[in-house]
Amino acid sequence: MKPKGLRERLANGESLICGEGYLWELERRGYLQSGVFTPEVVLDHPERVTNLHEEFVHAGSDIVEAFTYYGHREKLKLIGREDDLERLNLTALRLAREVADAHGCLMAGNICNTTVYTADDPAIVQGVRAIFKEQVEWAAQGGADLIIGETFNDLGEAKLALEAIKKYSNGLPAVITIACYFFDHTSDGVPIPQALKELEDLGAEVVGINCGRGPETMMPLLRECRKVCKGPLAALPVPFRTTEKEKTFHSLTDPKTGKGAYPLDLSCLQSSRSDIRQFARDARDLGVQYIGLCCGGSSYLLREIAVEYGRHPPSMKYAPNLEKSFVLGNDLNSQSAKVWHAMSGKGAGNGGAK
Ligand SMILES: [Zn+2]
Repeated sequence: MKPKGLRERLANGESLICGEGYLWELERRGYLQSGVFTPEVVLDHPERVTNLHEEFVHAGSDIVEAFTYYGHREKLKLIGREDDLERLNLTALRLAREVADAHGCLMAGNICNTTVYTADDPAIVQGVRAIFKEQVEWAAQGGADLIIGETFNDLGEAKLALEAIKKYSNGLPAVITIACYFFDHTSDGVPIPQALKELEDLGAEVVGINCGRGPETMMPLLRECRKVCKGPLAALPVPFRTTEKEKTFHSLTDPKTGKGAYPLDLSCLQSSRSDIRQFARDARDLGVQYIGLCCGGSSYLLREIAVEYGRHPPSMKYAPNLEKSFVLGNDLNSQSAKVWHAMSGKGAGNGGAK
C-alpha cells in the first residue's frame, strides 16, 4: 500500500521524521572521505548505503532520503568521476526507493548547495540552474515522492533550487532548508525568518533550518521563524553542543586542547540523548512538523526524537532498560551495590570495608 503523501500528512497536522547525516555517518564508518565529502559510496559500496537507510527507518524515520547529497556535477568533478554522475544519482534513488517501498516510507530526492553559487556571475548562476535541473529530473525519474533542497546559505541559491523543483519535478512537494551559520541571516544578508517566509510564499511545502547549528542555538531562531512563517516548519540540527558564544559546529572549541574541533574532533562535544530529547520536546511544543538530525546524527539519537514525537519505532525493542542492569537495577544485592559504589567513584576506594 502506498503511504500517505507529504502534503496530505502535513495538512492532517501529522509530523514527519527524516533521518539525515549520511555523509558524516558513512565517513565515521570508513566509506567516505572527510573534506571532499562526495557520495561515491553509492556506487562503490551500495550495500552500506542501503544499510544506513534501513537503520534510520528502524529508528523511526518516515522518509528515506536518496543519498545524492554532493552528488552533483561540481563535486564529482573534484574526484574525477563526472562521468558517473547520472549513474550515481539513479543508483542512489533506486537504493532509497527499495528501502522506502519495503517499509512503507516516503522517498525523497535530494539537492543541496552547489558550493560555487555567486549571485553576480550570470554564467555561474546558469551552471547552478543546470545542476539543479538535471538532479531534479533524475529524482522525478527515480520515483521520488518529494524533493529536499538543503544546506543553502544564500537565499538566492535556495530560490534557484525551489524554482527547479517547481519546474522539473512534475509537481513533487519541496522541503527547503537553510543552513544558518554564525549570524542570524543568510550570506546574501536576509534575516533567516524572512528568508524562510519568502521560500514559503514561493510555494515550498516545508521550510526550515538544517545543519550548522546544534539544538541549543537552533531553537531560539526557530521560535523567531515560527512567528513569521505560517506553514510547516523543518528543524534538523547537528547533534553538537553549540553555545551562544560558539553558535555553530564549525566554531566549537575542543575544551581539552583549546583548538577548533571542526570537523575531525567534534565527538568531544556531541549532544547527549537527553539534549536531543529536550530539543525534540521543544520542537514539538513549537509545532515543528518536520524534524530530524543532520551531520553527526546517529540512529540512536534519531530514536530519541521519534519517541518524543509519540512514535514506537522498531528499534524501541532495544531501547535502554536499566532495571535489568546488574549495578543500576532496582533490586540490587549488597555486593552489586558495593560494586556500583566503586564503579561510580562514590566508594572510599577500600572495597567498601568499614
Ligand atoms: Zn549537515
